Amino acid sequence: MKKIVVLGAGESGKGTALLAKKQGYSVFVSDSGPIDSQIKQLFEKHQIEWEENQHSLNRILGANLIMKSPGIPERVEVMREIRKAGIQVQSEIEFASQYTSAKIIGITGSNGKTTTTLLIHHLLKESGLNVGLAGNIGKSFAQLVAEEEYQLFVLEISSFQLDDIHSFAPEIGVITNITPDHLDRYNDDFSTYIASKMRITSFQKKNQFLLFNSDDPVLDNAIKESQTNAQKIPFGFDQNKIPGVHYSDKKIHIHTNKSNDMISTSQFSLQGRHNLLNAMAAVSVARLLDVSKDSIRESLFSFTSIPHRLEKVLKIQHITYINDSKATNVNATFYALESMEGQTVWIVGGVDKGNDYDCLLPLVREKVKAIVCLGLDNEKLIESFSPVVDLMVETTSMKEAVSIARDLADKKDTVLLSPACSSFDLFDNYEDRGNQFKEAVKNL
Ligand code: ADP
Repeated sequence: MKKIVVLGAGESGKGTALLAKKQGYSVFVSDSGPIDSQIKQLFEKHQIEWEENQHSLNRILGANLIMKSPGIPERVEVMREIRKAGIQVQSEIEFASQYTSAKIIGITGSNGKTTTTLLIHHLLKESGLNVGLAGNIGKSFAQLVAEEEYQLFVLEISSFQLDDIHSFAPEIGVITNITPDHLDRYNDDFSTYIASKMRITSFQKKNQFLLFNSDDPVLDNAIKESQTNAQKIPFGFDQNKIPGVHYSDKKIHIHTNKSNDMISTSQFSLQGRHNLLNAMAAVSVARLLDVSKDSIRESLFSFTSIPHRLEKVLKIQHITYINDSKATNVNATFYALESMEGQTVWIVGGVDKGNDYDCLLPLVREKVKAIVCLGLDNEKLIESFSPVVDLMVETTSMKEAVSIARDLADKKDTVLLSPACSSFDLFDNYEDRGNQFKEAVKNL
């Protein structure tokens, strides 16, 4: 019997263990931290062996195959020993994709993965296709493969999931953009991070497709240098790319070997140019899968905002409050500021991941009347933005930040939470930060 060791007992690990057991493997799950009690019960029910708060190296090194959960970095001791022993390591998507014949649409990129994934899933599902949604959202891909029958899967794929693939090839791959993020996991080397995102297309074949944002110079260049076999379809605001997909006059224009279409986005409710890029990708995927234009138009209309991504919370006394807590890097915040129509009181800050704020300066000068810093260390923010904004206030709780923002805003202004930083200094995670913002706004 083949032995698999699953490292990590989060969503990916749980799903892989269930699928491997179903496929007849001898399964052992090992987690260096505590395992959730519900997950332990599930393992007991399926007679899956596990250990927590440790890694028993002897047993682990006896495996034929290792599944490494995406959260585990290469530098930890157990990984170094596994690599030294030369045991094959697969990521969850690599492992699970071997056990399904469903077509896979895989979305990666630095920003916009979740939005694009949810939008693609919505367009396909509303057209009547039997489509599963997985990856960083909800249940893992492996668990869905173990438990459900789908004709198609839409997967949100992080670069960590792509690091240990050996044959995974989506029918349609989408790369939304590549901007510096998570560089700590890539030895602070941007080119390693780029290479990791590009792996989505490494094993694609001639009859498969790769959609990519060609307005992004880093990504466009990486595509030029890649040796992908897939049919490349660029999308963006630049109209000169044929074949390709572009946006003008409130319409998405698709020119590919397969179709020449125009689809109106006048009913699409998400704000901002970045969401038009996400829509271009999603609509193109739907057309490649022969979803009708009418169905796409209706579904663009029925797709509403996603929590913590430019989410309109409330309008109180003519001041609009927007929660963009998921903006944990500068690029995401750039698009948030760009989409602001009036004057903005901007709540920003948290754990800086080596941010370079220069690209925000023109937008901040034009649109931001006051900055509310929300973080334990605001020195870099103050240094970067004090030349362009007169009013900067430091706060250390969401309640305080929101109440000061309200005092600084006038009628018709917007209060925007778009932190450009991680949340871990003052909050559990970005959801906690966004929820506290919404709570504080509701209690104003
Ligand atoms: P991801 O799953 O890649 O983190 P999300 O869809 O959750 O992406 O969005 C994360 C943040 O980035 C949000 O602040 C959102 O408004 C912003 N965003 C969404 N799409 C894009 C895009 N195409 N380019 C840049 N920023 C984006």
